[in-house]
Amino acid sequence: MAIKFVDEVDLKGKTVLARFDFNVPLDKADTSKITDTTRIDEALPTINLLLKMGVKKLIMMSHLGRPKGPEKKFSLLPVATYLAQKLEEEVVLTESATDAGIKTLLTLSHPRIILLENLRFHKEEEGNDPVFAKTLASYAEYYVNDAFGTAHRKHASTYGVVQHFKNKALAGLLLRREIEALDKIVQHPQHPFMAVMGGAKVSDKIKIIENLLSEVDQLLIGGAMAYPFLSAKGIGIGKSLCSADDIKLAKAILQLPTGQKIVLPIDHIVSASLDGEPVVTTTVEIADNMIGLDIGPNTLKKFKECLKNCKTALWNGPMGYFENPKFAVGTFGVARILSELPNAFTLVGGGDSVSAIKQSGLDNKIGHVSTGGGASLEYIEEGSLVGINALKFGVN
Ligand code: AMP
Repeated sequence: MAIKFVDEVDLKGKTVLARFDFNVPLDKADTSKITDTTRIDEALPTINLLLKMGVKKLIMMSHLGRPKGPEKKFSLLPVATYLAQKLEEEVVLTESATDAGIKTLLTLSHPRIILLENLRFHKEEEGNDPVFAKTLASYAEYYVNDAFGTAHRKHASTYGVVQHFKNKALAGLLLRREIEALDKIVQHPQHPFMAVMGGAKVSDKIKIIENLLSEVDQLLIGGAMAYPFLSAKGIGIGKSLCSADDIKLAKAILQLPTGQKIVLPIDHIVSASLDGEPVVTTTVEIADNMIGLDIGPNTLKKFKECLKNCKTALWNGPMGYFENPKFAVGTFGVARILSELPNAFTLVGGGDSVSAIKQSGLDNKIGHVSTGGGASLEYIEEGSLVGINALKFGVN
């Protein structure tokens, strides 16, 4: 069965339960302030479409953060306030996702928009509890999933709930944008196809590295992820972040027939400590007392050369300890190189690389900036996600 999208069904006069990813970052000092509203903004096309169609009730749901039970600092209140402003309509936040008052709210003609309080205040959400899923489903006639960032999770609101909406479970517009963009990478990517991977841990990304190696023409590795590979080749990496297990994994990858597609840094920016002064190395070796914290200028040049004629480029993970601006040159350099590729479809996924692209104001020059870090990588790995499959095939 093909997936059905929200704009293919007339939902006028219907009650709709919609899962969004409103998991936005909040200001640590003042948790009533949202520091980046992107995830809510990305959901607005679907919300506006539903309201324009004339749905009778829109019951929205999301998680926020990782609360251990109900915790005020993880309340969706700032989200409700922001949405009310954007939609110019009242948005009522419920006391909890299972509050007895919800049924009453649903019988009233106003308000039209209801936001359920943080789903993760209930452990049943992540446990995909059938009773919790049934309660959520009891609020509406139709279900819409537009939460790409959590579509790889088998949770009550993304998975269990779907079985109660036979032929009435739809995908939202953000899900369509993400699927269409990711399919350009997953199905028949245009070659040369290059991937740039960074970040800290090889073990987290081992499966995707192996899969990508059979698809890409070259895999450029930077960030702390490069050190286990360099170490596996017998190159000194000083005190850089690297575990013995990761070196083993890297060694095994380098021995694959596709291992020769890997391109590693040829120089580095190092320092004696995380807040020390940056020093550019002249060789690939890192001195024993130094920590590798960014790729060097020659590596950036080499990466630029590798990428210049590519037709498809995927980027995940920073090229160094970019939270410190002294070690952010490589990460922002890669962001710029990707934004200037003349003939390529570029896709950036993963929290840190997305924030680097946004911070440099280059996100409008990238083919697709995914809203889901883990979800986008898993989609590339598996070719789909459990939450999307549930909409296609139902739930067993
Ligand atoms: P990941 O979640 O695997 O994408 O890793 C992202 C984190 O890796 C960021 O917090 C970076 O600061 C960190 N990181 C990347 N390169 C380095 C490095 N060379 N040394 C220390 N941390 C790094």
